[in-house]
Amino acid sequence: MPVWDQPRSFWTWGNVSDEPSEDERKKMAAAISARLGQEVTPPPIPNLDEIELTPSRITVPEPLSAFVTAGHRQRALHTYGGHVLELLKAMRGQFDHPPDAVAHPRNEDELEAVLSWCDQHSYTAIPYGGATTVVWGLSVPADSNGAVSIDMAHFHQVLEIDEVSRAANIQAGVFGPDLEATLKPHGLTLRHFPQSFPWSTVGGWVATRSGGHYATNHTHIDDFVEAVRMLTPSGWWESRRLPGSGAGPSPDRLAIGSEGILGVISSVWLRLQKRPVYRATAGVVFPSWQAGYDATRHIVQAKLWPANLRLLDPAEAEQSAGLNGQQSLLIIGFESADVPQGAYVWEAVKIAREFEGQIDDEDVRIDDGTGQATGREGAVGAWRQAFIGVNAGVSNGLGLLADTFETSITWDKWPEFDAHVRDRVGAALRETLGASARLSCRFTHVYPDGPAPYYSFSGVAAPGGEAEIWQHIKDTATAAVVDAGGTSTHHHAVGRMHRPGYDQQVPTTFKAALRAVKRELDPRGILNPGVLIDPD
Ligand SMILES: Cc1cc2nc3c(=O)[nH]c(=O)nc-3n(C[C@H](O)[C@H](O)[C@H](O)COP(=O)(O)OP(=O)(O)OC[C@H]3O[C@@H](n4cnc5c(N)ncnc54)[C@H](O)[C@@H]3O)c2cc1C
Repeated sequence: MPVWDQPRSFWTWGNVSDEPSEDERKKMAAAISARLGQEVTPPPIPNLDEIELTPSRITVPEPLSAFVTAGHRQRALHTYGGHVLELLKAMRGQFDHPPDAVAHPRNEDELEAVLSWCDQHSYTAIPYGGATTVVWGLSVPADSNGAVSIDMAHFHQVLEIDEVSRAANIQAGVFGPDLEATLKPHGLTLRHFPQSFPWSTVGGWVATRSGGHYATNHTHIDDFVEAVRMLTPSGWWESRRLPGSGAGPSPDRLAIGSEGILGVISSVWLRLQKRPVYRATAGVVFPSWQAGYDATRHIVQAKLWPANLRLLDPAEAEQSAGLNGQQSLLIIGFESADVPQGAYVWEAVKIAREFEGQIDDEDVRIDDGTGQATGREGAVGAWRQAFIGVNAGVSNGLGLLADTFETSITWDKWPEFDAHVRDRVGAALRETLGASARLSCRFTHVYPDGPAPYYSFSGVAAPGGEAEIWQHIKDTATAAVVDAGGTSTHHHAVGRMHRPGYDQQVPTTFKAALRAVKRELDPRGILNPGVLIDPD
């Protein structure tokens, strides 16, 4: 069944079919009990039809009732995104600010009708894709006088594939797996794999400037966007398909990353590539974190352009690949549709060895393009399983508070930046989570001028106290990252959560200019108020 047609889960990422079984939750509870030294049991999942919601403040007019509903179930299902605190609330049956109605427009006429209805009544309009936002990008503001979630699930078609230019016109509601399944028979791929790929949509990716892994040199969705078609309350915003253009500020660049505050993205032309057949991977072990990041910098600056360069610090390398707690692990991946990759991976391994990197020759795996491979997967395989198997539902609600924060920073500031962040966040973690606190880091993306460090933290939090503890840790992390010169987010977007850091890092004149653009496109400020900027 295509992803768009599957029933969504309200307490874990993705669909009902992604929900962990009772057995899996019990096994996780046993593992967490062992770590905490006290017995924990999985909380019961509430019945969605029985949870209490505030009554809807909206009467859906007859002409819209074919695709807009104020029904209980849909309102509850569209209340939250994918942040752990949101899922925790959902698990506990707390749905404080549900949207008053949910629209499922089936075509652009219906999209126009629902947006214009919201505009006439000044209802908050919230574009909705896969709901994997981890920055509260779908929340209904407490002071809204009525809110409508606009679910793009019916915009699930690849409208056109241009095999000559290698691009496709894709509707906003297309989910990652459905997109790749459609492109595969054409021998094409977008090759954009955020970790949330199975549950997120093309419109969500463009709206949030998502970052993919296995990116074959292109990391952010920005690199793939050829043209955007977006409906604003003031009319359509459609750019021309161009491979490149020097004609002034780019209309696409304003739509990309607009996080639903300027309009609803209806479709986008995205650049594609041939499916890779030549692959090469290597997992290199370093005696320390420093040796690992020094090698990583030299590899990325050698312009070998690996598709994947991911460094795990000793804590992460121990947890996901079984290393000794001192060693770091660098995962190197190359791929191409046309060119054998063996020479490149050996070049990267040569640099890694110059920085104390250890790898047996047999652990360099090279696929020769016919499906035949030499070498073993080793630590790379173990890491991949840990990366793909991520599932919030299995551990949430068991007394373990776990979250991540991500950023990027130039190499010249790097080691001091890391020390500063670990120092400040480590103190906040010890203060709130005591001896159970853990903090670790990996580079999810690496650029010639700097890494994108991704920090994970966890620890025991008393049920009910999670939100307050989380907020203290998050505030500390944001301040530490931004004060030390990093960005408030590398790929998780700004939403409402990252506003304090974003407000600090962008020029005041830029914010004023963005507000002016919003006034022009969305004069009544109905679209996602509070995301990125405050409404006028
Ligand atoms: C487990 C997990 C892993 C993740 N890994 C990554 C990762 O590797 N890289 C990464 O970049 N992000 C990641 N994220 C964050 C999230 O998946 C991305 O922000 C993603 O792009 C959101 O897509 P979505 O379809 O789920 O959008 P939603 O969550 O539905 O919406 C996100 C925001 O975009 C707006 N929006 C959605 N659709 C449209 C549209 N058609 N027009 C206008 N605005 C729209 C919404 O109003 C909202 O503000 C992860 C999230 C989770 C839960």
